[in-house]
Amino acid sequence: MAHMGAYKCFKYGSQHFYWMSMRSHSKDYIRRCHLCRMNKQPTTLSDGVVTPLPVPRERFSSIAIDFTGPFPSANNTELILVVLDPFTGFTYLIPVSQNITSVATANLLIE
Ligand SMILES: [Zn+2]
Repeated sequence: MAHMGAYKCFKYGSQHFYWMSMRSHSKDYIRRCHLCRMNKQPTTLSDGVVTPLPVPRERFSSIAIDFTGPFPSANNTELILVVLDPFTGFTYLIPVSQNITSVATANLLIE
């Protein structure tokens, strides 16, 4: 027979016993219980399968973009828009404001 779970184990045990870190010890004990691991179904989603991105076939057929920062700036360009071509590894670094909109970002990419 398996345990009822960490919370119920702690709740029941705390009616009779108490020690420092009893809650985390209960949680740890339940997590490591061999019977529970063998007999209970997982209640969380599995991690899934890591699959690599498809390899692009030509330059700039796909790009990866990200913002880094904020960095100290005197001219209101605290972020850097990083545009990477995964095929060639070519990277554009575009200084932008923190208040940049998605439309303005798209216009920068089109230029
Ligand atoms: Zn158990």
